Amino acid sequence: MNKILDVKNLEVSFDTYAGEVQSVRGVSFDLYEGETIAIVGESGCGKSVTSKAIMRLNPEPPARFKGGEIIFDGEDIVKKSEKEMTKIRGKKISMIFQDPMTSLNPTMTIGKQIVEGLKKHQDISDEEAKKRAIEMLKLVQIPNPEKRFEEYPHQFSGGMRQRAMIAVALVCNPKLLIADEPTTALDVTIQAQILDVMKDLQKKINTSIIMITHDLGVVADIAQRIMVMYGGKIVEKGTVNDIFYKSRHPYTWGLLKSVPRLDIDKEDERLASIEGTPPDLFAPPKGCPFADRCEHAMKICREQMPPMFDIKEGHESACWLNHPDAPKVEAPINKPQRDITKEKGGTRD
Ligand code: SF4
Repeated sequence: MNKILDVKNLEVSFDTYAGEVQSVRGVSFDLYEGETIAIVGESGCGKSVTSKAIMRLNPEPPARFKGGEIIFDGEDIVKKSEKEMTKIRGKKISMIFQDPMTSLNPTMTIGKQIVEGLKKHQDISDEEAKKRAIEMLKLVQIPNPEKRFEEYPHQFSGGMRQRAMIAVALVCNPKLLIADEPTTALDVTIQAQILDVMKDLQKKINTSIIMITHDLGVVADIAQRIMVMYGGKIVEKGTVNDIFYKSRHPYTWGLLKSVPRLDIDKEDERLASIEGTPPDLFAPPKGCPFADRCEHAMKICREQMPPMFDIKEGHESACWLNHPDAPKVEAPINKPQRDITKEKGGTRD
């Protein structure tokens, strides 16, 4: 498999009247063709700023690119002019957001919005564009697509609007789709349908997907790898199985404990939350950003930033507990609700 995206040491800040907000502080990850990765973390951890940086959509100013590389399809996105970026956005990289009403144009029919994207990037007749748009609506499982082609976003239900937005985003067969909290505003049944549509489309057009979410629960079925972000940094990365069964970071343990489970005793059914608040990114701590909320914090945690420790190939954790001389801390048992490895056809390692 070819690498489609390689983000190296990305740093993005926002200059405000109150000072510099260091939103993304040295983030590195990669993505392969046809792969789905999830970037997971609380609000303000830097996940959306990271994904928007890939499309160069953070408004500059106040956003400021401070350093790093974003190699997409062999070329550094950071060095592209705005004119070059307009040819990449929508054609090679597309994005879908939490609320389709903010990205779909309420004054244009759904069909026209899909056709417009196609005609912008491809030399194609009106008739052919309409045919492709209707096919796309069919692919995202919009019933009666010929009729729906002529309708406006407000005539669609929430789930249908989200599917229409996926159609707009994928009509040019982009190499990369960035989905920023695409199911957060939807109820769980519709959420599952949208994830199924995305998985199905990915198989058909081999798009790579970056899924941005605050909810670990939604990524188990769709992603192959997970990056956990906290305080502008990736604090743990690994396969879905590494993160769900063998996590080596207290912040990830906290996120896992907040995922609703079907297999816990009635008396334990209250969901755990992570006490405290995220670090102030106007003045990020010099040590581990999670130290103030971590029950295992040691002296070194507040004094030195933990490096990324290799747990095994592809599984890394930025926590001092992984140092060979650190006290041994038993990870909470992350028993899954169901065997994800069987669903993915892999082996649990
Ligand atoms: Fe907790 Fe220290 Fe690990 Fe940070 S480095 S997560 S404070 S134990």
